[in-house]
Amino acid sequence: MIPHRLQLDYNLAPGWLQPWVEALEAGSALARTCAACGKVSFVPLRTCTCGCAEGTWTPLPGTATLERRTEGADGSFALVTFDGADTSTVVRLESFPEEMNRGTIAAAKDGLPALVLRPLTQENTP
Ligand SMILES: [Zn+2]
Repeated sequence: MIPHRLQLDYNLAPGWLQPWVEALEAGSALARTCAACGKVSFVPLRTCTCGCAEGTWTPLPGTATLERRTEGADGSFALVTFDGADTSTVVRLESFPEEMNRGTIAAAKDGLPALVLRPLTQENTP
């Protein structure tokens, strides 16, 4: 093996996810509601599980319930269901006590669009 450092710089275009990415950067949850069956997906599905590709953007309150949690070398993560959504997604947990199972979305500190959840307290209840 010969160690070699490789660095890549590239830009990712959000495409149809532009509204969702902008909401994430602002620390907000924006879901996709299917025009045919009304299923609310967060993370948004381009094509719903019913096969419909039409939908509208739906703001969610940003609060979520933890379903499963894991701790790793890269931090804490959880499978969560956001209030108002019919789907679950994986988020990074930030300063999240083990005994808590409710959280609220937060903007990622590094400026990248990412799903971050902080503990839901009385101060940050929407
Ligand atoms: Zn549908």
